[in-house]
Amino acid sequence: IVVVDKISKTFPSADGRGSHLALDEVSLTIEPGQVLVIIGPSGSGKSTLLRTLNALEKFDTGNIVVNGVALADKRTDLNRMRAEIGMVFQHFNLFQHKTALENVVLPQVVVRGRPRSEALVRARDLLEKVGIADRANHYPSQLSGGQQQRVAIARALAMDPKIMLFDEATSALDPEMVGGILDLMRKLARDGMTMAVVTHEMGFAREVADRIIFMDQGRIVEEGEPGSFFASPSHERTRAFLDQIL
Ligand code: ATP
Ligand code: MG
Repeated sequence: IVVVDKISKTFPSADGRGSHLALDEVSLTIEPGQVLVIIGPSGSGKSTLLRTLNALEKFDTGNIVVNGVALADKRTDLNRMRAEIGMVFQHFNLFQHKTALENVVLPQVVVRGRPRSEALVRARDLLEKVGIADRANHYPSQLSGGQQQRVAIARALAMDPKIMLFDEATSALDPEMVGGILDLMRKLARDGMTMAVVTHEMGFAREVADRIIFMDQGRIVEEGEPGSFFASPSHERTRAFLDQIL
């Protein structure tokens, strides 16, 4: 469903003179129904990688094919391709001047062209599913971080995405909110959603991931299934990172 083939990406460095290699020949595949967890230190390129997957970020070389569509192909309709991919960020990114319900209704109408009545039914259904049906008419500022993240997840699901991308979806939450969001993600995984998840929650990674990738300095240093990955990482860098975080 996702094939990433040797993509590289440079950013201009802060002083405007050099450049910085954020992704260095990264290759991976995600099969339908798989959960890929991406871990690694700050600045290793995790967010950049996720953002290239839904074409929020361009890459310099290599290729990415998502749902059979090549992103590097100039003929590719990126908006249409993005509609198949749900993304959930650390900082929710809800429409502040719209209620929870409207946040879930709007993209369905605007992007999918659904009749409003149909979008409303689906939105209420999803708010129920993520456990905040009783907050449907609240504005984001009236919701806790965990509740806002539930709305963001419902909004992404409302597009019927083929893949969900999560970039540190629980990192900005108060500790007591984290478990609920992880439960929700776990449930999605169990229901067969294809997911790529950047997280520091190693318990979640161990339990839910089909495959784990460890990134450092724009490269995939190590990858494997969670059992062997955690029990016997083969690279010193991976071991050092896990020692630090676990
Ligand atoms: P974190 O765990 O802190 O979120 P990350 O692994 O997600 O880190 P990225 O955000 O992907 O890291 O950044 C990778 C590298 O690319 C970093 O060195 C970062 O400074 C650089 N970078 C990212 N976005 C930009 C940008 N828009 N302009 C310039 N440099 C960038
Ligand atoms: Mg990041």
